[in-house]
Amino acid sequence: MSSATHWDIIVVGGGPAGLSAAMVAAKRPGTRVLVFEREEAAGGIPRHCDHTGWGLRDLRWSYSGPSYARRLTKLAVDAGVHILTDTTVRKVESSGEDRIVHTVSPRGIQSYTASAVILATGCRESTRHSLLLPGKRPLGVFNTGTLQQFVHLKRIVPGTVAVVFGSEHVAFSAVMTLNKAGMKIAAMVEPDGYPHSFLPVSWSFERWYGFRLLLNCRIVNIHGNHRLTGITVEDTTTNRRTDLACDTLIVSGAFKPEITLAVESNLPIDPAADSVLADSFLHTERKGIFACGNVLHGAETGDIAALEGRWAGVQAGRYLDNRLSEPRRVRIECAAPIAWISPGNVIAPILDIPSFLYTMRVTRRIRNATVVARFGGETVWKKRYGTLTPHRRIAVPVHTWTLGADPGRNDMIRLSIEEAA
Ligand SMILES: Cc1cc2nc3c(=O)[nH]c(=O)nc-3n(C[C@H](O)[C@H](O)[C@H](O)COP(=O)(O)OP(=O)(O)OC[C@H]3O[C@@H](n4cnc5c(N)ncnc54)[C@H](O)[C@@H]3O)c2cc1C
Repeated sequence: MSSATHWDIIVVGGGPAGLSAAMVAAKRPGTRVLVFEREEAAGGIPRHCDHTGWGLRDLRWSYSGPSYARRLTKLAVDAGVHILTDTTVRKVESSGEDRIVHTVSPRGIQSYTASAVILATGCRESTRHSLLLPGKRPLGVFNTGTLQQFVHLKRIVPGTVAVVFGSEHVAFSAVMTLNKAGMKIAAMVEPDGYPHSFLPVSWSFERWYGFRLLLNCRIVNIHGNHRLTGITVEDTTTNRRTDLACDTLIVSGAFKPEITLAVESNLPIDPAADSVLADSFLHTERKGIFACGNVLHGAETGDIAALEGRWAGVQAGRYLDNRLSEPRRVRIECAAPIAWISPGNVIAPILDIPSFLYTMRVTRRIRNATVVARFGGETVWKKRYGTLTPHRRIAVPVHTWTLGADPGRNDMIRLSIEEAA
């Protein structure tokens, strides 16, 4: 183990959230900021997501993924941030006022200390195994992330005909990548009766890329001894089974925050979102450790992750200035069919927090729903929605709430949905 090297702020993860946090933190005079990134280059998911639309809300420009990754990396480096790539952080510990960050890299096992640490480790898609997709285990079944790494980073065309499982935004990103690789898209398969992305997106993609979106369909078999030869899908409304010939199956979405490091470091986890538990300052329940981006919620868009990163960078700077007051955290408890809200804690009283910060998800599609927040017996917020759809961002304007009642020691904010009869 090398001798410890002290930094003011260490950021774990060099994606949009981590790079933005580091850039803002480094602008505080005299602040030394170090980013650890386990990949060979900083940039995160956008590095291999080669289509436009990145950076709209943070940089106010539409970048392609790779150019967005390069731009954020340059902004951070220009602000004085040091970036160490090929370096995986294994664990973060606390010792008095210091955080100790343990890493592994081609240089060996090393430890660094910092006054504050920001976790920005992102999220990942679920695998076919965690989604319990039955059948054989041939080559050719993988996630969108792997597909995009093959096509955009390694210039490998992984097959000829593909089926995409899932219909949220990233499934359509997979369609664009398959098309760019010159592959045919046989179908998109969605177990629910509606696409999880926006209707105009699914309609226009079906027509433009020439595939069928099979709603209410589940995969009941995966075929092929060595290489994938096809799948069988079942229409859950008619029980009719259809065989689809393909050599590639892309399992998209069902995002999970990348909390391996947080769990290893004994950070409190929000079991509902399977994410790091943080508050309105993106401060976790461990002093001096912050979190931002998709480690808080899988998955928000890159620009939201970047804005959260900037907010975390500002708060880490305030922490170094001893200006983060001892917080009075109030937990937000979600009742079904609300899946989760992130961040899971609110600082009371609610001060000046950004409008993009709080987001929630539901477990099923709900029409004519009223979302209600109650605290200490009072209704602090109420809003009616025409339709709420799973996997889509539902912004919660916590910045407008006033917590009138005095929070009792164990009092919580209760978030629930009233459905029209
Ligand atoms: C396949 C896929 C496609 C997507 N497509 C889009 C899209 O088209 N548009 C869009 O807006 N959003 C898209 N998203 C959502 C995307 O995750 C976010 O937009 C954005 O990348 C989130 O930024 P982040 O910094 O939180 O996480 P990431 O971009 O995932 O960055 C996290 C970084 O942390 C690093 N890391 C993790 N653990 C460690 C560790 N222990 N030590 C060191 N480094 C570590 C990772 O290598 C990674 O570089 C996509 C997501 C996926 C999974």
